[in-house]
Amino acid sequence: MIPAAYAVLNLEAVAHNLQKVRSCAPDAKIMAVIKANGYGHGLLRIADSLQEADAFAVARVDEGIHLRKAGIKKRIAVLEGFTCAEELEELLKYQLDAVVHCAVQVDILENRKEQGTCAIWLKLDTGMNRLGFKPMEFNAVYQRLMHASIIKQPINLMTHLANADDKEGATTLTQIKLFNETVDLIFPSLQQKSECSIANSAGILAWQAALTDWVRPGVMLYGISPFPESTGKQLGLKPIMGLYSRLIAVKSLEEGDKVGYSGTWICDKATTLGVVAIGYGDGYPRHAKTGTPVLVNGQRVPLIGRVSMDMITVDLATQPNAKPGDPVTLWGDGLPVEEIALAADTIPYTLVCGVTQRVQIVEKSAL
Ligand SMILES: *Cc1c(COP(=O)(O)O)cnc(C)c1O
Repeated sequence: MIPAAYAVLNLEAVAHNLQKVRSCAPDAKIMAVIKANGYGHGLLRIADSLQEADAFAVARVDEGIHLRKAGIKKRIAVLEGFTCAEELEELLKYQLDAVVHCAVQVDILENRKEQGTCAIWLKLDTGMNRLGFKPMEFNAVYQRLMHASIIKQPINLMTHLANADDKEGATTLTQIKLFNETVDLIFPSLQQKSECSIANSAGILAWQAALTDWVRPGVMLYGISPFPESTGKQLGLKPIMGLYSRLIAVKSLEEGDKVGYSGTWICDKATTLGVVAIGYGDGYPRHAKTGTPVLVNGQRVPLIGRVSMDMITVDLATQPNAKPGDPVTLWGDGLPVEEIALAADTIPYTLVCGVTQRVQIVEKSAL
C-alpha cells in the first residue's frame, strides 16, 4: 500500500549533479557536503551515491563516525572540528579531517604528541564572522600548527562565503581577495602551497574566482538552486527529492464557511475543498501561505487556510471531481521545492532538511 506521506528520492540524479559540479570546476577536487543527514536525504544513501566525490564533509564528529562505521573509507572533513581533547581523540581514531577555527583547538593540538596523524583544514574568517581566525592572527596560528607534531603537513586552508547567492553584491569578491592576500602572506615564495578551499554551491555556480583546489558543494548536489531567483532545473541540476501524499477527504463548502484552525480562510463563494494527508508533522512548512501551489492529479491548486500537523486543505474549485485517494505533490516533478520555499518565506534547504521520520522514503529505482 502506498503510504500517506512519502518522499521519492531519485538517487541516480546525484551523479548528474556531481557531474555539473565537475563541469563548473573542472580543475578542482570535490568535497561533497553531506551534513544534516545528507540535507535530509539520508546520510549513507547519499554517501553511497557520491562514490565519485573526492572527499566528504559533515558538520559534526558523530556524523563522520557514522560514515566510518558504515565502512566508508573516503576522506571526510568535519566542518565544525572539535571542542575538547576527547573529541580530538575521536577524530584521530576514525581518521577524520578537522577544521581548525579557534584558539582552543590549537592548544589541544599542541598538547597531543604524536607524529603527523591529524589532517586539518585551517579556517580563515574572511567576513562571515562565524567560524575561523581573523586575517591578523592567521599567519601566527599557521606557524604554530606547522610546528605541532600531531599535524599532518601540509596544512589545508579554507574560508566560507557569506553572500555567494547574491550575484551582484561586492561581499564575495572582497572575501575571496582577503583569502588570497592572507594566503599569499603565508607563502611569499615558490614553496609548495597548501591546498585551498573557498566555494560552496553558489560560489561554484556564480564566482569563477572562488574556484581553487577544492570546492565544497552542498545543496546543488541535491538538485536545488542556492539562488532565490532560480530553480535547480534552470541551472541544469536534477532534483533528488519529491514529497507526495494523497487526498483523504473532499467536500463542498458554502460561501462564508471557514476552513481550518482559527478559520483564517473564509469562502467567498461555494467551492470544493480537498484535505491532504500531510502537515508540519511531516516537515511541510507551517508558514506556507494561502495560495501556495500544490499539485492534485498533476494540476496546480492553491493551499488554503492554516497548515495543521497532519493535514493541509486545498481549494479544488478547478477539480470538482477529485476524490479521496487522488495523488498529491507537495514538491517534486512539476513543482520545484524552490517555489514552495518562497511561498513559505524560507529557503529550500530547510524544507528538505526538515522532512521528518514519519515520512516514508522510497527510492525511485524501487518503484
Ligand atoms: C554547508 C556548507 C557548505 C555547503 O553549502 P551549500 O550552500 O549547501 O553548497 C560548504 N562549506 C561549509 C563550510 C558549509 O558549512
